[in-house]
Amino acid sequence: MRIFDELSKYGYEQLIFANDQVSGLRAVIAIHDTTLGPALGGCRMWPYESEEEAIIDALRLARGMTYKSSAAGLDLGGGKAVIIGDPRKDKSEALLRAFGRFVDTLGGRYITAEDVGIRGEDVEIIHMETRHVVGLPSGPGAGGDPSPVTAYGVIRGMTACLEEVFGDSSLNGRSIAVQGIGNVGYSIVKHLSDEGAVVHVADVFKERVDAVVEEFDVEPVSPDEIYDIECDVFCPCALGGVINGETVTRLKCKIVAGSANNQLKDESHGNALEDLGILYAPDYIINAGGVINVAEELYGYDRERALRKAGGIYDRIKSVIEIAKRDGISPHLAASRLAEERIAKIGGIHRIFVP
Ligand code: NAD
Repeated sequence: MRIFDELSKYGYEQLIFANDQVSGLRAVIAIHDTTLGPALGGCRMWPYESEEEAIIDALRLARGMTYKSSAAGLDLGGGKAVIIGDPRKDKSEALLRAFGRFVDTLGGRYITAEDVGIRGEDVEIIHMETRHVVGLPSGPGAGGDPSPVTAYGVIRGMTACLEEVFGDSSLNGRSIAVQGIGNVGYSIVKHLSDEGAVVHVADVFKERVDAVVEEFDVEPVSPDEIYDIECDVFCPCALGGVINGETVTRLKCKIVAGSANNQLKDESHGNALEDLGILYAPDYIINAGGVINVAEELYGYDRERALRKAGGIYDRIKSVIEIAKRDGISPHLAASRLAEERIAKIGGIHRIFVP
């Protein structure tokens, strides 16, 4: 791997390798762009098969965070850390504290948080060594569970899409198919029911479906059937890659708007949605409530303010739709343009990193 070629491709600022003999920590921290502010992004712990795989993951995720924070209107850049190891076997207090000390040496250029393999209680251990960490589950200044804020942002983004497609933002009587009734999916179903929407729900865990069917007036369907439901909005709140070659032509909706990360298997599926006349709310714009919530910890956490900022996702989705129309491109490309334009305005035109 030619590291500097890789860094130059998308304008990465810094790549850091952290090695601690005592705890066995081997971590990579990638800082993509700090034009808008310090690089914020979670720390992932994963048993990568090679060092190259770990580096590529850190770089890819760090760049994603630059776009997400920029498009969310945050004063933050993009970064990400990965720890090489199996979180079930290799995680220890010593390792997490060693990681925290490395983060601290960066003096706030990189702010870490939880991600796959790193949970709230791990973040608390990292916090023993550095204050440059967000996503604390409890205690003074902690943001707690971000999913209600994420769900609220999704609802606001969905509202903007409904207004665009139907000329009416009301959820009352609209039919919505929600895939995945986890933390975010549950909150979304609650909002939708409160607003009088007609809701179909699916989850691979039957007890999650049974619980919402019991609590709200919603219709259960199987995990496979959810793609075929005739509805106004398909709302993916489970895993990534669900808009793919197999599913895209099955969708019978007018809008895709949900919380899941990386909904498009690849970019071509964003174009496929466009060709089918389905409006796609780009995932990292509509699900930015999570990062908005953790970023609030930097200013002294306030849930009301976090919700208010997540409400701004309505305007972000509107901007994406405007850019898509202005430039004749699909919404997923317009989302990148929104993020790049904000960075360019603040950091100078040379900083646009279109591949
Ligand atoms: P979660 O793990 O609580 O819920 C996910 C749910 O999806 C689970 O109930 C799971 O059983 C279900 N599921 C998995 N595969 C499925 C399938 N094939 N069909 C139907 N259901 C399936 O996770 P969450 O915190 O609710 O997050 C949901 C999605 O939103 C994830 O992609 C996450 O990355 C993304 N997201 C979450 C937040 C947040 O604040 N929690 C923020 C931004 C993005």
